[in-house]
Amino acid sequence: MNLSRQKQRGQHKDVECTTAIDVTNLQFAYSKESKPIVDIKKWQVPKGEHVFLSGPSGSGKSTLLNLLCGTLTPSKGKISLLEQPFSSLSNRQRDKFRARNIGVVFQQFNLIPYLSVAQNINAAVYFANKGNYKNSKDVAAATCQLLNRLQLSDSLLNTKADALSIGQQQRIAIARALINDPQLLIVDEPTSALDADARDSFMSLLKDVATDSTMIFVSHDEAMKSYFEHHCSISQLNCSLDDTTFSLNRDTIKCTQGRL
Ligand code: ADP
Ligand code: MG
Repeated sequence: MNLSRQKQRGQHKDVECTTAIDVTNLQFAYSKESKPIVDIKKWQVPKGEHVFLSGPSGSGKSTLLNLLCGTLTPSKGKISLLEQPFSSLSNRQRDKFRARNIGVVFQQFNLIPYLSVAQNINAAVYFANKGNYKNSKDVAAATCQLLNRLQLSDSLLNTKADALSIGQQQRIAIARALINDPQLLIVDEPTSALDADARDSFMSLLKDVATDSTMIFVSHDEAMKSYFEHHCSISQLNCSLDDTTFSLNRDTIKCTQGRL
């Protein structure tokens, strides 16, 4: 663990926290009339675990991740993150908590297309307002270090995000998610656009740069499971899938696990 991280943890009350994610009686529906897409009685993730969360398309994985990073709010129940209330915070408090503590990599990467790589990353530092960096020179040095760890050249710093290849966008999205040294990393299907070789090298880089964070990595691709020690199928968590066609998938997943 680097010094800035130790210092930063020492300044927050989560210094002794052992549970990164704690979900209780969580329900979410996109409208009042529809039945919940997500319905989870209890889910806890210990701090520091890297969890592979799998499930078929449409089973509510992205919806759950949006609830975990506060871009959606529960219809019922509660989410605590880093042993602090999260879902009960005001929108403004939740945005602040997310900017400081959660690195998010969405399927579409969500870089701001007309900004350069450096500007995209600087924006994340600005919104987190964590005080990790003394000045812009420090941010630039940390950005170059991250880019190098992700096997990207510093020469990309002034490149506009919309001029990057998919593979480069993906790594810059990871760099942006990590620049504030987040305790939680939420990653949604980042490898869907990659071939097998590129996927392998991306996964080993991600595991390497995320060693200090708790990570929830979502994919419908069961082949990605081998990169993770901790596995969770959304069908085991999400009761809303019980009386739908997904129960068939759930049985298939359980049978497969039983045979292995
Ligand atoms: P996954 O990530 O597992 O593919 P999602 O969480 O994206 O699944 O979607 C779960 C269900 O919620 C799907 O039936 C999808 O159509 C529905 N859904 C997703 N986003 C919205 C939305 N913004 N409004 C209404 N329904 C949605
Ligand atoms: Mg999804």
